[in-house]
Amino acid sequence: MSAISTLDTDILILGSGGAGLFAALHAHQTNPNLHITIAVKGLLGKCGCTRMVQGGYNVALAEGDSVERHFMDTIEGGKWLSNQELAWTLVSKAVERIHELENELGCFFDRNPDGTVHQKAFAGQTFDRTVHKGDLTGIEIINRLAEQVWSRGIHRLEEHRAIELIHSTDGKSLAGVLMLNMQTGQFTLVRAKAVLLATGGGPTMYKYHTPSGDKSCDGLAMALRAGLILRDMEMVQFHPTGLLAGPGTRMTGTVLEEGLRGAGGYLLNGNHERFMGNYDPRNERATRDIVSRSINSEIRAGRATPNGGVYIQMNHLGPENVRKQFKGMVERCADSGFDLANDLVEVVPTAHYMMGGLVFMKDCSTDLPGLFAAGEDTGGVHGANRLGGNGVANSTVFGGIAGETMAQWVGTQQLRECNMEEVMASIREHEAPLEKPPGDIEFIRDTLAECMWDDVGISRTQETLLRARHTLKQLATQLKQMGVGNIQREYSITWQDWMNLQNLILVSQAVTEAAIARENSRGAHYRDDFPEPGSLEGSYFTAVNMLNQHLRIEKRPVNFTMVKPGETILVES
Ligand SMILES: Cc1cc2nc3c(=O)[nH]c(=O)nc-3n(C[C@H](O)[C@H](O)[C@H](O)COP(=O)(O)OP(=O)(O)OC[C@H]3O[C@@H](n4cnc5c(N)ncnc54)[C@H](O)[C@@H]3O)c2cc1C
Repeated sequence: MSAISTLDTDILILGSGGAGLFAALHAHQTNPNLHITIAVKGLLGKCGCTRMVQGGYNVALAEGDSVERHFMDTIEGGKWLSNQELAWTLVSKAVERIHELENELGCFFDRNPDGTVHQKAFAGQTFDRTVHKGDLTGIEIINRLAEQVWSRGIHRLEEHRAIELIHSTDGKSLAGVLMLNMQTGQFTLVRAKAVLLATGGGPTMYKYHTPSGDKSCDGLAMALRAGLILRDMEMVQFHPTGLLAGPGTRMTGTVLEEGLRGAGGYLLNGNHERFMGNYDPRNERATRDIVSRSINSEIRAGRATPNGGVYIQMNHLGPENVRKQFKGMVERCADSGFDLANDLVEVVPTAHYMMGGLVFMKDCSTDLPGLFAAGEDTGGVHGANRLGGNGVANSTVFGGIAGETMAQWVGTQQLRECNMEEVMASIREHEAPLEKPPGDIEFIRDTLAECMWDDVGISRTQETLLRARHTLKQLATQLKQMGVGNIQREYSITWQDWMNLQNLILVSQAVTEAAIARENSRGAHYRDDFPEPGSLEGSYFTAVNMLNQHLRIEKRPVNFTMVKPGETILVES
């Protein structure tokens, strides 16, 4: 067993997306004397999905819009499964956060000729409220956030991977996190008074997916192993328009943003017929779950394009206009040899976002004292379906709140002793593959991707889900028996892949078990064998946790704390 270095800090933040960076800034603002550390699998400012945000940020700013309206869109889009307190926090704090991004952090967003912030149309919304910087909004947000973090002397552990949450010796709270320095391959035990889980979820276990490659559901897997509860795990969002680039390239799945449909883009099947009107009166502006399923139905009915998807058409909006409005998307398509402004481009649904995640409170605390959570690692904000534009609002709103809560919390706390048995057990488990002969990791990855795509994908049945349960169990066993060989530990991609797969398989099992438990169809979760949504008044959410290596599922009632199904908080004028 290799030596372990140690580090003590007041606040340890895992992940440097919108949630992690906002948390660091707000914690520092609340108490500049704190020792704050951001640990991240990649390079700060260069990894995660917030940087990849294209379309933009939902916030009720314009005349005629309201936070109440944003709230109702979020609740109805989420098919009444959201925790309403969390959803309200999202929409109300988003207003504050967007002003902070513009006026304090220096983001430039697009503006109307009269100087007001331009807000574009996104699907599932009753008002055009998506603030953006062209169609590459995330780069603007992350660059400004990273500059501010760099300038404040916040401690950084880059290319450090969190591998285990470590309890205190009495088991009652979190004491620290075991990290792997990916540069050296050595372990570091970081003790902290408060830890933020902000590793961004990310459904990269699916054959086609959009999130960045550094995400492998590590936070969710660590939370499960630490005995915490994840909710809504069956709710995996498929973005309807992933680029379908054909064989021989890994570009397939790269997302073509929702603003294309919001601006009036059409979807055509392989027979060149516009089909969304057959499924939803909102046509292409229906929510993502409906559009993805409709595309899936066209494909299954044999009306697919040559590469097995459908087409997106933009040229009827004027090629020059498309080139101007969607510069990033036009260039992305051109990189793969397609002309979005003039021609049809083939698209296919692609796994995009996990609505499910760690159960947390609106101050970002969790059931484990010392552990806080924000961003895509959390569950409950979006319910059964996330509206496009609510993702980056979620990570920045709750990241900021988490920073403030943690800064206040650590004032009353001491560093706790780590349970060293947990530390040693985790090191043994993570070093085990280095001591076994190399196996076929590619096979595990490909089988996992096919299994999740085919059997736990856009539509599911009991038969496919039980098959997935069986496959995943086999994969977990095979991976455990498989080694990577006695390779060098520094920058070892194969070893990292092994760890990624371990986490992805565990979280895939949680997704599958939750999908088996939900015998109805809500939002992103569609069961061919149970197509009805079930009683809205009797809505429940799934809660999964792990005990003695077994996943346990419970159904818990949704509390309608602000508005009941069939009602609205909007006041009629
Ligand atoms: C292509 C694309 C386009 C999108 N467009 C939009 C949009 O237009 N509007 C919108 O609202 N949302 C959009 N989203 C969703 C949005 O990006 C996410 O909801 C949000 O940014 C997540 O923020 P986060 O901080 O939770 O996670 P991320 O920004 O993903 O950051 C996660 C961080 O955790 C780190 N990490 C992961 N594992 C570990 C580990 N084990 N140890 C240490 N660090 C770790 C990662 O390296 C990364 O730094 C898009 C997503 C994608 C993929």
